Amino acid sequence: MTELFAGVTAEGETRFIGEVARGAACGCFCPSCNSPLVAKHGEVNEWHFGHLAMQERPECEVGAHNLLRRLGVQYLHDLPQLILPPYRQVLTRQGRFGQIHEVAEWQSEAVKVTDWNLAAARGQPIGVLKLQDGSNVDMFIDIGNQRPSHQSHLSHGKIVFYCPLPDPESLRTQDKAREWLRYQGEFVWIYQPDVNGHVASANQRLIDRFQQMEGALHPLEIRAVERGMKLHHSRQWMGDAYLERKQAQLEAPAAPAVQPAQQRGHEIPWAGQVKPMSMLFFWRLKSGEAWVMYDRIDHLRCIAPWPETVEGWDEALPETVGFPDLTLAAYKVKDLANAMIWMNARAATSRNTSNIEELFRY
Ligand SMILES: [Zn+2]
Repeated sequence: MTELFAGVTAEGETRFIGEVARGAACGCFCPSCNSPLVAKHGEVNEWHFGHLAMQERPECEVGAHNLLRRLGVQYLHDLPQLILPPYRQVLTRQGRFGQIHEVAEWQSEAVKVTDWNLAAARGQPIGVLKLQDGSNVDMFIDIGNQRPSHQSHLSHGKIVFYCPLPDPESLRTQDKAREWLRYQGEFVWIYQPDVNGHVASANQRLIDRFQQMEGALHPLEIRAVERGMKLHHSRQWMGDAYLERKQAQLEAPAAPAVQPAQQRGHEIPWAGQVKPMSMLFFWRLKSGEAWVMYDRIDHLRCIAPWPETVEGWDEALPETVGFPDLTLAAYKVKDLANAMIWMNARAATSRNTSNIEELFRY
């Protein structure tokens, strides 16, 4: 549950526990039941408000949680730009010798948000996100519950801004709470309609592969029948023959591998150091130069010039972004939020993706 971390003044303004005088002098009332509050700035316990003349009630804790949601909506509302993660949908089909998968993944950009509902109750959309492909997506907020997951076949696009429950230290002031949302909050796609047919073409690839597998099995099946095998025996034999054939294909001398033109990640010297599945942040600044922020396997967070180092790179960014490390050929980021604020303020475009190949398109 959420302890009461904020109260409302007689003038109706919200005050966080670290922003008021101690005790009854705080001058705050409960946002749920309007009873007077006392500010408890303890040495041992976490700071919180208590009701002056009555016991704590679960309803008032729910009220505190709603306040947190509202703060989250306000935070999103005040952002200059919403940065969305790529949308990813995995398609699966059961083959005779195991499951086969295809992945549809694409990046959408938020054009604008309409119908903001700053006081949306739980389960109500907080706004409608308009994407550059023209589709509309309902936007929700979820603070402190389980990270939501993808649901296929909704009738309408859905995205959730998810944030784990702030620790009490982060609920002392409004600024700290916003900082928590900025660091810990993330958009999670629940469903996006397949406007551009990416899922449809992944599904077609899946069908093609499935039929190819079946096609390879069919002649084996006929030979099994010709040999007069019993059904369960023929299945066993077919499976072995299929795997043997596959193995022979793998061992056959392969044609010289042709690197598809778009596979260029190996050109980037730090590509091998990137933490698997982590997010890459890309900025092209108004001055023309481009930078990429990435997390390394050793947990260092870096910003490197993109796609290659240019003379003077180590003097291009200020200390608020990071410190240049000549051996890494990148800036080591000290404070993520400060770095992002500085870069976003000077960016002509910004993108994020988990696939380094995509960065060559920007
Ligand atoms: Zn109350």
